[in-house]
Amino acid sequence: MAGPGVYSIVMFVDLSRLEDGRLSQSFEIDRESPILQGLEAEIHEPLTFDVEVRNPSGGTYVVTGRLTGAAVAPCRRCLTPTRIPIDVPLRLVYQEAGREAKPGADSGDDDVVWLERGAKRIELDAQVRDRLFLETERFPICREDCPGICPHCGRNLNEGSCDCALETVDSRWKALEGLGSGIEQDRSRSSKGE
Ligand SMILES: [Zn+2]
Ligand SMILES: [Zn+2]
Repeated sequence: MAGPGVYSIVMFVDLSRLEDGRLSQSFEIDRESPILQGLEAEIHEPLTFDVEVRNPSGGTYVVTGRLTGAAVAPCRRCLTPTRIPIDVPLRLVYQEAGREAKPGADSGDDDVVWLERGAKRIELDAQVRDRLFLETERFPICREDCPGICPHCGRNLNEGSCDCALETVDSRWKALEGLGSGIEQDRSRSSKGE
């Protein structure tokens, strides 16, 4: 039994259930799942993790899976809660310690997760958690042309403009006018010089 503060594994594959070296399984990760602890994005609907486990050689298990669903995080310009679609393929290779993968077993250059000799199950939490954090740490934009928040008055500019924006435009025009007259002066100077 897991004591207080001890993280218990939520998603695992029972290796005794493999038939002809294969097993398909589906997991649901709801918003209460300990896997999501510390995640900044919020999960409103459960995520789904579909996996297929293959056992190409004695101690090697290849897990291919797909994590799908959506998370919600603030728009990085205006802070409006914004949906982040999640559709992540995963491929993991688990290798039992002390049992070399046979040549030709498709462990390739994949990152290998080591299993204890005689392991009865494959634990998936840490690997899925890592990917989920990676996918959701890039804050979304609510829409491509989101104008964000006015740095002067803090107004969300999606809800309408503020007076600060007008003032900024005004001062830019003044700067441009100044530039324009400067160029004209240069021209008149150079034409006089010729
Ligand atoms: Zn936005
Ligand atoms: Zn403003």
